[in-house]
Amino acid sequence: MTTVLVLVEHDRGALAPATLEGLTAARSIGDRVEAITIGADADALAADLAPYGVATVHQVHDGLLVDYGPEAWGDVLAQAVRVLQPALVVATGTDRGNEVLAQAAARLDLPFSANCTEVRGDPTADTIEMTRVRWGGSLLEEATLTAPTKLVTIAHHAVDASPSDAPGAAAVAELAVSLDASLARSVVKGRVEREAGVTLSTAPVVVGGGRGVGSPDGFAPLQELASELGGVVGCSRAVTNNGWRNHADQVGQTGTRIAPDVYFACGISGAIQHWVGAMASKNIIAINTDKDANMVSRAGYAVIGDLHQIVPAITAEIRKRKGA
Ligand SMILES: Cc1cc2nc3c(=O)[nH]c(=O)nc-3n(C[C@H](O)[C@H](O)[C@H](O)COP(=O)(O)OP(=O)(O)OC[C@H]3O[C@@H](n4cnc5c(N)ncnc54)[C@H](O)[C@@H]3O)c2cc1C
Repeated sequence: MTTVLVLVEHDRGALAPATLEGLTAARSIGDRVEAITIGADADALAADLAPYGVATVHQVHDGLLVDYGPEAWGDVLAQAVRVLQPALVVATGTDRGNEVLAQAAARLDLPFSANCTEVRGDPTADTIEMTRVRWGGSLLEEATLTAPTKLVTIAHHAVDASPSDAPGAAAVAELAVSLDASLARSVVKGRVEREAGVTLSTAPVVVGGGRGVGSPDGFAPLQELASELGGVVGCSRAVTNNGWRNHADQVGQTGTRIAPDVYFACGISGAIQHWVGAMASKNIIAINTDKDANMVSRAGYAVIGDLHQIVPAITAEIRKRKGA
């Protein structure tokens, strides 16, 4: 029996959807998937995890675990590994997933392989193989990991989350831990309310604008197109550098990784640092005056021409077809 233990990422009981990618990947690697939820607020998540094939949810409760803190979470995970002895520990490669596994790995004196797109081999063997994303996503590395317990994160968006074909009811078990107050070195203290609605990283449609948009006002037609399609506006770093949009809208290596069904890349040349944030898009439509732009070569579809004419024309056509 190969047991894989999956770290459940949540914030005060709100499940991070990225966790479902980790669970889906774990199912394909081991034959028994268990999960660990940290903090009492997460107890109700057991019902959300069962459809993804989780056999047992280990729940951890402690006054120190009301809010996320990397040291405390890492210590909890390390204690869980010592007690449960899974062959493999998986988290999704979000900021928190990588942070907690790094903390746990240091405490366990074990190696940790981050941002894997694929894990191959039997986790109970001495060594497993993996492909992992490196250099901000600009290259894929073939690697091996040799350890009694393997710790890996699955690169965010590398796996489509899907429920199990034959889920059962997840058993719930309390896992006792002992935590020192000194572990509360960094703890979430406040939260900024995000705008309601879809976010850049989860939007089904992203309409991205680059330097070719020309000005902050030039984004208005892109916003209209995004709104027609239930999507959001993204941008390149040239745009944030110019102060035309907030950094929160930036797609790329130093921005957000997106994975929409459709990405409209308007006036974006497709530099590698932008591409690594956009390459998980299922369909890319490049709109560019330069037929030789990288984004045009990489996109599934391209329209060669001035975005200031093409974007409003697409919006008008969509409205016409909607009968608006
Ligand atoms: C360490 C590092 C990290 C970086 N991180 C990021 C990142 O996270 N995200 C990111 O985006 N970049 C990032 N960059 C910057 C990146 O290298 C590029 O400089 C940037 O992506 C270029 O933005 P752009 O495509 O909007 O501009 P440009 O490269 O100037 O391209 C503009 C495009 O618009 C087209 N165009 C012009 N006018 C029109 C028009 N009217 N209609 C249609 N097309 C038109 C042009 O043909 C051209 O292809 C990073 C760079 C470094 C060094």
